[in-house]
Amino acid sequence: MGSAPAPYVGRFAPSPTGPLHLGSLICALASFLDARSNDGRWLLRMEDLDPPREQPGAADSILDSLRAHGLYWDGPVLWQSQRHAAYAAVVDQLLESGRAFRCDCSRQMLAQSGGVYRGHCRNRNLSCNQPTAVRLRVDEDTLIQVDDGLQQALQQNLAQEVGDFTIQRKDSLFAYQLAVVLDDAEQRCTHVLRGSDLYDSTPRQIYLQQVLGLEQPAYTHIPVITNAAGQKLSKQTHAPALDNAEACRHLCLALKFLNQATPPAHCNTPDSILSFASERWQLLAVPATMGLPESSLA
Ligand SMILES: [Zn+2]
Repeated sequence: MGSAPAPYVGRFAPSPTGPLHLGSLICALASFLDARSNDGRWLLRMEDLDPPREQPGAADSILDSLRAHGLYWDGPVLWQSQRHAAYAAVVDQLLESGRAFRCDCSRQMLAQSGGVYRGHCRNRNLSCNQPTAVRLRVDEDTLIQVDDGLQQALQQNLAQEVGDFTIQRKDSLFAYQLAVVLDDAEQRCTHVLRGSDLYDSTPRQIYLQQVLGLEQPAYTHIPVITNAAGQKLSKQTHAPALDNAEACRHLCLALKFLNQATPPAHCNTPDSILSFASERWQLLAVPATMGLPESSLA
């Protein structure tokens, strides 16, 4: 008797640094459609890991927008702010086993080595009585290959190109790389579909999965939408919030950027647009880049 393939589990993982905008809607929609067209579950995770960067009310506003656009997730929302004990336990375990070490290098020192960490504090045995970051030891000649669902495969010599990387910051906040790996494992995600701005952090995540003995999900990175100036559409570039009353128009616009079939006029609710789109979803039709004129954002 052959074993059945693992059922598809996808997720969308916004940071509550501002309301949902067209760029994040495109990402949510692509991951939703990929999950639904594979009869999969679609989970939601709020990446509220970095309180100073967050905007009050943004998490609720993102959840409201997703609902207004018919993007209903399965199960409860996983909040990173409630996962600190789980992250801390893994950091402790990695420190105890010697896979991780404390580091007090300044930004200036790191900049001098071109951003690549050369192991300066590996054997200094710094105490936890002073503020230190915690870094994961990267073995020499660690070559990580990412096979992506859409992008060209990526190869990274982690020791030479990144070096020992941070899993907990000096201000004691947990690093994104650690949280995302532990949360994808906690939520048993089999598929990660997200923006290509995270592509070059994927080798670090795969390395962490290897060190921790966790399953590796399948990765797909869709191009990040850019504005007329070529900047990523984001809160930092003042992407406008979506007006929930125009959900159908936004969904049709997002489908257009994803180069998917255009819903007919009689699909005039978010649910009917999403069911039309999930029946016709073609991941490989998604274009390599996505730009848009400012006028289409209004
Ligand atoms: Zn150091």
